[in-house]
Amino acid sequence: MGKSNKGVNTICTHVGEIHDEQFKGAISPLYMSTSYAFEDVDVKRYPRYFNTPNQVALSQKIAALEHAEAAMIFGSGMAAISTALLAFLQAGDHIVLQKALYGGTYNFVNEEFSKYGIEFSFTEGLEPQDFESKIKDNTKVIFVETPSNPLLTITDLAAIGKIAKKHGLVSMIDNTFASPVNQNPLDFGIEIVIHSATKYMGGHSDICAGAVASTAENMERIFHLAKNLGGSLSDYTVWLLERSIKTMGIRVKAQNANAQYLAEYLDAHQEIDRVYYPGLPNHPGHDLAKAQMKGFGGMMSFELDKSYDASEFQKALSLIKPSMSLAGVESTVLSPTLASHALMSPEERKNQGIADGLIRFSVGIEEAEDLIADIEQALEKVRNSSMVSTD
Ligand SMILES: *Cc1c(COP(=O)(O)O)cnc(C)c1O
Repeated sequence: MGKSNKGVNTICTHVGEIHDEQFKGAISPLYMSTSYAFEDVDVKRYPRYFNTPNQVALSQKIAALEHAEAAMIFGSGMAAISTALLAFLQAGDHIVLQKALYGGTYNFVNEEFSKYGIEFSFTEGLEPQDFESKIKDNTKVIFVETPSNPLLTITDLAAIGKIAKKHGLVSMIDNTFASPVNQNPLDFGIEIVIHSATKYMGGHSDICAGAVASTAENMERIFHLAKNLGGSLSDYTVWLLERSIKTMGIRVKAQNANAQYLAEYLDAHQEIDRVYYPGLPNHPGHDLAKAQMKGFGGMMSFELDKSYDASEFQKALSLIKPSMSLAGVESTVLSPTLASHALMSPEERKNQGIADGLIRFSVGIEEAEDLIADIEQALEKVRNSSMVSTD
């Protein structure tokens, strides 16, 4: 499979289409078969071998989007992450992971790795030396996530790629928050890119899927474990995901524009203490984000005025819905303290910089003015109730 030199919207719309030779239909036909006649002894098509017609076609699209030689689609983001990690780690090995990580990845490492005799270290900071200082003789993998959840911290991809090569390690990134529209880590020397396709690739909050993209050689290694672990995605959902990705370029670009507009609005707002968005010049990772991202993304976080109740604010919103997930066409919010990071101790949250009034905001494709109006009416409600309660 060669690399594509087409632009992102063209790749989204066309790469990996299956031509309907029989009826000349406009879209890829869906092949639900779990049983295929042997074409020759080497090709045994079967969904769990990740090689049905729809799986192969969509893998080509995802590989092209990430400027990779090959890709695979999984049943969830965590199936993609767990399979990729275990393909490159065995008993006695060690991995260095970024401290700010998606909760599911953190739990997988923290709860499962000791059973397999795999050692792990989390970095203390996000500077390249924070990663390098954790490398040991038995380190095999370095794992990053940028922008991270929920504070949108930025990790230097080129520096991590260099450190990995210098020490002979495999570098992996969870590229979910950026999406392939905004960031292509392989171009910066990272070896393996992972996505929760449940987020921007799916984009409509109706698909759970994952993806991994890398060199053909790395994907071959991941495939050998993947077929044993069995985390493939149903062809019907593969077909839906192809349809979703056709509009990913325009969706994500619209979300970038909305998020930038809202971030600037909130940053100037009297009742918002702080905004975390890589597209703002006051964000500590802004210059780095500018260098390695094509767009700053649709995710941001902000802190309400300390006297305001984050839970009341969420309830007062009407267009923007509180939700655990993110990256859909609809705008959603989440309070990390009440939801995604609720199981952490208050000290641990403080240590990670997560304030009680922090709101994570997944910006959708609605009109920005309507989103602002919704935030303003919610602020008005909590403003009044905070005045009542302090009387
Ligand atoms: C949602 C998410 C995952 C996990 O994906 P699932 O599809 O829920 O398994 C991994 N990483 C990030 C950054 C996510 O947002």
